[in-house]
Amino acid sequence: MGKLFDKIAQDIRLVEGLKACVNCGTCTAICPAAEFYDYEPRSIVEIVQSRDDDKIEALLSSETIWYCGECMSCKTRCPRGNTPGLIIMALRATSQEMGYFVNSEKGRQQLLLKRVIGHNILETGYCIHNKAVVPALHPEQGPTWEWGYENMQLVYEKMGANLDGEGTGALRKIPKEALAELKAIFEVTGGTKRFEMIESYSKKAAQDRGLEFGEGLDNEYVAELISANNQNHYKL
Ligand code: SF4
Ligand code: SF4
Repeated sequence: MGKLFDKIAQDIRLVEGLKACVNCGTCTAICPAAEFYDYEPRSIVEIVQSRDDDKIEALLSSETIWYCGECMSCKTRCPRGNTPGLIIMALRATSQEMGYFVNSEKGRQQLLLKRVIGHNILETGYCIHNKAVVPALHPEQGPTWEWGYENMQLVYEKMGANLDGEGTGALRKIPKEALAELKAIFEVTGGTKRFEMIESYSKKAAQDRGLEFGEGLDNEYVAELISANNQNHYKL
């Protein structure tokens, strides 16, 4: 008992986020995610504080830790100075590093985030680049977005942006040197290794589920990640 807790306790976010929880429930009351999801930051903090490895392991495999929006509203109200949002970040990191994330529907979507947001950051310098929000993949954006996508240069010029241009301005091209620096930061901080682990655990999960796995977004495993919804996430 306590080995998983000991691992998570090495994460500075747990040191920062968990002082002494008195189980008052204020964090759940303020949490916007708790309004919609079957989710309680209070009980997550209680489990971590218990140091019970079996319960922590179940948490790492659960949908629950992926519901947090990392808004940090909980930090502002906790009477004991805890930050459940930071504790959840530490749990998520451990879930990714140890492969527990593939045991839940929301957890498996980490691959999607890595391949979309992660790829955008490293290749363009932006989390979400407008060119990456392709209308065919994002029908939810509607016809206005589609028109804007097709007339991107015109739209952003009128808005005063510098789309893919040299120099300064919104949506400017991020220089190669800056992108190289970004990749170096990912290397030394463990981001690259984390990405590789997400890929590797996901590949194994695809094999276990009998789904085709490949690079990019056009394969059976990713298609399942995009469309999966077990309908058990929301409060009734
Ligand atoms: S608000 Fe703070 S003390 Fe209260 S349950 Fe949440 S983490 Fe624990
Ligand atoms: S950081 Fe997470 S747990 Fe805290 S209030 Fe925001 S959504 Fe809720």
